[in-house]
Amino acid sequence: MIDSASSIVLTCHVRPDGDAIGSTLGWKHLLDSIGKSATVVVPDNAPRSLAFLPGFDSLAVYTRHEEYCSRLFKEADLVICCDFNQPSRLDKMRVLLDEATCPKVLVDHHVFPDEFADITFSFPDMSSTCELAFRLIADLGLYSQMNLDSATCILTGMVTDTKNFTVNCKSPDIYEILQRLIDKGCDKNRIVRLSLVEKSFGALKLEAYAISNKMEIFPELHAAVICLSKKECEDFHYEKGDTEGLVNRPTEIRGITCSFFLREDSDCVKVSARSVLDFPVNTICSDLFGGGGHVMAAGAEFHGSLQECRDMLVKALPDYARFLKGKTEKLDYFEI
Ligand code: MN
Repeated sequence: MIDSASSIVLTCHVRPDGDAIGSTLGWKHLLDSIGKSATVVVPDNAPRSLAFLPGFDSLAVYTRHEEYCSRLFKEADLVICCDFNQPSRLDKMRVLLDEATCPKVLVDHHVFPDEFADITFSFPDMSSTCELAFRLIADLGLYSQMNLDSATCILTGMVTDTKNFTVNCKSPDIYEILQRLIDKGCDKNRIVRLSLVEKSFGALKLEAYAISNKMEIFPELHAAVICLSKKECEDFHYEKGDTEGLVNRPTEIRGITCSFFLREDSDCVKVSARSVLDFPVNTICSDLFGGGGHVMAAGAEFHGSLQECRDMLVKALPDYARFLKGKTEKLDYFEI
């Protein structure tokens, strides 16, 4: 398909993260280097923390340039979908994918993909879509063509989805892939700092405020819940992506198995959930809010007030205590 295509569109999910942008741009640089014309089309803006990625400024953003994006899809003779498992993950841009008549390929690591592509590469055991993209590129015999720009984007997705190789990293292969990417000249330390660590002063203060003032702990359920209103976010000059890592922080507490972060947005409440020890937060997100995701990293949107969302979650949590069996440690909990 790549051989017979000349204009290739790469696309990924709404509110794209490092893996979504890394995998699409990683393919783009590779495809450009073998003489194709590849463009990354995203449903909405990518976070500024990824602005260091080569090609970031070339992203076609549907919410900003609807017609241009629509033309790119119409003129494409191949669409490669990265890091999502259902067309609905493209949000309003979904129509472009639905209407595209050219062949479609899906490259993804989320469970249970819809059958919308002509070829589906679905490997939920992989750390990241970027890891899968690297393997495909290598299997296609294109590793030697991979340039530093492509390698940097691919490594960024691996770094962000694995939290710098601290989660989803059981397979020894990924360290070999890491080596192959560093062989291309990637500056891993810089990638980690820019994509994962660095944040604004306001974002750091918002995180501190959320943890010290807004975190509720439910000791018997080994759960933590943080709610942030729109007003609270605005008080800290909230920008998109500022609360990206917040949901993970409560899981750093010994004995906390699952963490929920509810953020009031303009039209809904954004629910993010994280867990440790394979506690299935995707089940909770799907049962309660119609969301989904990975076992230990899931999310949803709730249409209603922040308080309703929080109450619904807290009321339902005891129903899931059965999943805690054998997955808990003594909770170090100090009432202050
Ligand atoms: Mn991913």
